[in-house]
Amino acid sequence: MKRNIKEEIGEIGKRLYRANLNGGYGGNFSVRDEENIYITPAGVPKDVLDYSDILVIDFKGNVIEGLGRPSSEILFHIFIYKKREDVNAIIHAHPPFATGFSIAHLPIEGNIHEESVTVIGEVPIIPYELTSSKELAERVSDVMKNHEAALISNHGAITVGEDLEKAFRKMEDLDNLCKMVLVATIMGGVKKIPPEKIKALKELISARVSKSK
Ligand code: 13P
Ligand code: ZN
Repeated sequence: MKRNIKEEIGEIGKRLYRANLNGGYGGNFSVRDEENIYITPAGVPKDVLDYSDILVIDFKGNVIEGLGRPSSEILFHIFIYKKREDVNAIIHAHPPFATGFSIAHLPIEGNIHEESVTVIGEVPIIPYELTSSKELAERVSDVMKNHEAALISNHGAITVGEDLEKAFRKMEDLDNLCKMVLVATIMGGVKKIPPEKIKALKELISARVSKSK
């Protein structure tokens, strides 16, 4: 199995922790590589992972390589990969601001901040289900069929991407967006970008992105 993928997953755990996007025993992250899923182990802090802690599983949840137990949330990782061919990395974390929004059951509209319009779009709230349950996996994967980021009620957040870096940037963007919405709410309320400008904004940003590739 590929050591570089395992190292990248370990590094993301440290980056999320340093950016105050995840802590304690929470969160899990995975990468899809052909028929395999590389995933974090269950029940350990995710900022101290060594590459050798990362498990490799198949799409039925069988452990192919690694010691210990794979994340208790393997089902939603597997279900999302099955539903999204374009997604090769998933990050679930408990970032304090986004998790606060998940506790308040507050979704975020996709038209309130320039960067978020194009990076994550609207952020729905997934109704509460027990951690690790099939019901949670079904609800999460259904929502992630057509979203890049979502809040999981009274639990945390999830982002997806074509690679781990992109999923990480979306998680960073999401928690920053929650801070912005909180400040705007205190300062008198969230105001939206005019609808007629949204299409032009998306075109402008995607032209910039394709230029920089
Ligand atoms: P695991 O350590 O089993 O992945 O669980 C952490 C978590 O955040 C559960 O939702
Ligand atoms: Zn969690």
